[in-house]
Amino acid sequence: HAESLDMGNKADFPILSRLVHGKRLVYLDNGATTQKPQSVIEAERRFYQESNANIHRGVHWLSQHATDLYEQGRERVRQLLNAAQANEIVFTRGTTEAINLVAQSWACSKLSPGDEIILSGLEHHSNIVPWQLACERTGAKTKVIPLNDQGELDLQQYKQMLGPRVRLVAIAHISNALGTINPVTEMTRLAHDAGALVLVDGAQAVAHQPVDVQEIGCDFYAFSGHKLYGPTGIGALYGRYDLLQAMPPWQGGGDMIRTVSFERSTYADAPQRFEAGTPNIAGVVGLAAAIDYVLDIGLERIAAHEGALLDYGTKALQAVSGVRLIGTAADKAGILSFVVDGIHPHDLGTILDTDGVAIRAGHHCAMPVMTRFGIPGTARASLALYNNRDDIDALVKAIGAAQTMFGVER
Ligand code: PMP
Repeated sequence: HAESLDMGNKADFPILSRLVHGKRLVYLDNGATTQKPQSVIEAERRFYQESNANIHRGVHWLSQHATDLYEQGRERVRQLLNAAQANEIVFTRGTTEAINLVAQSWACSKLSPGDEIILSGLEHHSNIVPWQLACERTGAKTKVIPLNDQGELDLQQYKQMLGPRVRLVAIAHISNALGTINPVTEMTRLAHDAGALVLVDGAQAVAHQPVDVQEIGCDFYAFSGHKLYGPTGIGALYGRYDLLQAMPPWQGGGDMIRTVSFERSTYADAPQRFEAGTPNIAGVVGLAAAIDYVLDIGLERIAAHEGALLDYGTKALQAVSGVRLIGTAADKAGILSFVVDGIHPHDLGTILDTDGVAIRAGHHCAMPVMTRFGIPGTARASLALYNNRDDIDALVKAIGAAQTMFGVER
């Protein structure tokens, strides 16, 4: 199905049939969040209607039932990432919380002054700021892999940066600002050879291609459910079990302890040690339904569809004079980041919205990327499995209308 530019799945997503400003909704802001299929909405509704109870502590049937659903969700995430064991999956609020967990628990307890964390020039702020906070507390410092003009990481520089003080490499699998797919398997091998651990920010990857943490070989992998057609407020951290077991808790509370006294408490094993308090149980149920949804279609098929649409969109935008694509990596996912001569990205986004075309404008929480390219921001159309050729055509048409409105030469 590599040539398929329409998977015919729009009908699974009720919101896509609504109108915005009287126009058909053309939703191209999937990098920010994806829409939810009926099966995910239904799974959450059914949980509250038929299965709601608190987990891991009830003696009653309903509590056991809710616990089973929650733990089945963990198994689904294991399957999505091909982790070796379900107890390597920690539920979090999302990617941001997963990265903060590693920064607070692992980095703050293991790093010393002079230790180094390698980041890349295309990271989302949530894979920069948690490490800066950890560095303030430990005296460690960050180093940054530079980008070339295509928006790819400079691997030669990376190799040279991997000195004896590097303890961790924290990199995005796919850039949300440019769509660049980083060679995380190779980068992990190089980091391990240098004695460093690797955290991969998979926020933009899990919905768009198969991910196998054992094949990548990374030590930690973070993602958010809401970018995978699942609910907001739920995500997960994969961590190699021996590492998780050696990490101290980062939040205290119920469900993460073994014993508590006023003198001293002892902690549960991973992953429960990192799941203090009542978790987002309905969110896990919704996430499991979302994983079922993408696995049923097949992530290979989704990747082929989005790849074909990316090619189509790239050619279509290149054909519009005054439009310049930012981020032209050879290995790229379904993100079209661009600037239009004479129109500020925010103005463009606002005008496109009046045509029902939803894109994102700005720095995409990746300000260093914008600095690297010397621009304040971009307009970004980001693709999902329900997008098709009509959506790209609507985008291109709306850009043309905006250029006419602004009196920009075409
Ligand atoms: N990393 C990347 C690459 C992202 O695109 C995002 C979301 N835009 C995040 C991290 C943060 O994800 P969340 O806000 O769901 O925690």
